[in-house]
Amino acid sequence: MAENIDFDDYFVPADEEHVKREKSRARKLRKSQWWKNILGRGQCHYCRERFHPGDLTMDHVVPVIRGGLSTRGNVVPCCKACNSAKTHRLPIEWDDHMDRLSGRDSGKP
Ligand SMILES: [Zn+2]
Repeated sequence: MAENIDFDDYFVPADEEHVKREKSRARKLRKSQWWKNILGRGQCHYCRERFHPGDLTMDHVVPVIRGGLSTRGNVVPCCKACNSAKTHRLPIEWDDHMDRLSGRDSGKP
């Protein structure tokens, strides 16, 4: 029943305090063993391609600026190409991008 999606419900602008706090949490998370293990797998969450761990960045699935948290459930490894593709897209466009990618990779869970 998602016919009348009110995007305002999804994209509540985060206040400055939230952004500061979550960015500092993200810095800590990046140093954690948990994150290092994820990078060690060397796989981009989005395109599923393999990368050198140093070429992967931490991406917030729900961006901090949209109220997302720096929690294990909301951060994924992301290659530079996907990262810049994502930042310049609206979420709906990003979904299209993901659909195209998943069409290419049938082995996706
Ligand atoms: Zn990627």
